[in-house]
Amino acid sequence: MTDVSGVYPADAPASQALFDRASAVTPGGVNSPVRAFRAVGGTPRFMVRGEGPYLFDADGRRYVDLVCSWGPMILGHQHPAVMDAVRAATANGFSFGTPTEGEVALAEEIVARVAPVEQVRLVSSGTEATMSAIRLARGFTGRSKIVKFAGCYHGHVDSLLAAAGSGVATFALPDTPGVTGAAAADTIVLPYNDAEALATVFETDGDQIAAVITEAAAGNMGVVPPSREFETALRDLTRLHGALLVSDEVMTGFRVSKAGWHGLGSGDDGAPDLFTFGKVMGGGFPAAAFGGRADVMAHLAPSGPVYQAGTLSGNPVATAAGLATLRNCTDDVYAHLLAQSGKLAYAVRDALNAEGVPHLIQSAGSMFSVFFTGLTAVTNYDEARQQNLPAFAGFFHSMLAQGVYLPPSAFESWFLSAAHDDTVLDQVVSALPAAAKEAARMAQ
Ligand code: PLP
Repeated sequence: MTDVSGVYPADAPASQALFDRASAVTPGGVNSPVRAFRAVGGTPRFMVRGEGPYLFDADGRRYVDLVCSWGPMILGHQHPAVMDAVRAATANGFSFGTPTEGEVALAEEIVARVAPVEQVRLVSSGTEATMSAIRLARGFTGRSKIVKFAGCYHGHVDSLLAAAGSGVATFALPDTPGVTGAAAADTIVLPYNDAEALATVFETDGDQIAAVITEAAAGNMGVVPPSREFETALRDLTRLHGALLVSDEVMTGFRVSKAGWHGLGSGDDGAPDLFTFGKVMGGGFPAAAFGGRADVMAHLAPSGPVYQAGTLSGNPVATAAGLATLRNCTDDVYAHLLAQSGKLAYAVRDALNAEGVPHLIQSAGSMFSVFFTGLTAVTNYDEARQQNLPAFAGFFHSMLAQGVYLPPSAFESWFLSAAHDDTVLDQVVSALPAAAKEAARMAQ
């Protein structure tokens, strides 16, 4: 029986039973760490079905989904056009290991949407996209160093799982066991939004830097948009020193506008050299891409010497889902996402203010997140970390018990879909006062 009451007990017996089984055969019981609820405590909900703006768990409870599979489900679950495209594709078989027309159409759609992207290579995950873009940048420039920014996540690529060493220009250290010092040694980690630190590094190491990779607008430390000054410095300094600028739009791409973050601002003159995409462009299937300047992309095998490949790259079912998703992401959809996320953000602000909970809401287009902080702006990872995490956990669990599935971490963007209409938002809004009370209680 489906329970849509939005008044759920704290325990979730069916999810717990599945989690117990999962924990016996899978490390931590999950296949991606954030799903384990470690940041908020409690039993991760095992979902069995998605429909429009809703998820349904193993205990038969319905939730408004504000995670949307961490971004991809921009049209909501089971959008009819995407379902039809997937059914049609699967009717022809699943994977051929040959070129297919669907890949061409998806690449054409991406190239048509993001003007500076002249050529694109399809891969299966955002991680693969950033890993390959970096290899290509190194191959193209003949240089080895990479600059990344603390708090930006680019997937679990060894050289990008690096943490800042001491002092701005020192080599980075591995951010996890298993990444060697050698893998991290060619990575320089700087604070996000710090144009001065970037200038200093280019002064000392400029001729060795192959690329600067940045989240177009950071979403993995909560939402932290780049300042104009920072964006200008990224473009000017990389150009001046012959390094490539890689804009990671795995999260923002095709979500915040037709052309992602690029479409919201920098203009084609300030365009990055390479882009990485994922999430929305796969419509819920494993599809991702990297692309950009044709002269750079020409260095990729088989046109050029930089090797890159994938058994399931451009998978016909994934490309069909991605293409149907992108084709249905119209101007109206983007306007709707922006309007609905604005309404929701204001409602969250009002509810938290009513309970005197210190917080800050930041957005990048229709992506937004709530920092439980007394700061008036969060511009980098050090600031993002200054949050009252128990307050978030209290807020999260109250929303969950009222049938709203938020990202189970204070450092994530909230995602809406085209299916999040006013009725759905009303359900979320009605849950906010109790959640704000719980945040206030836990904040003590
Ligand atoms: N880049 C960004 C900005 C991301 O947000 C993510 C994933 O969340 C990735 C790269 C990695 O993508 P994937 O999880 O598909 O490997």
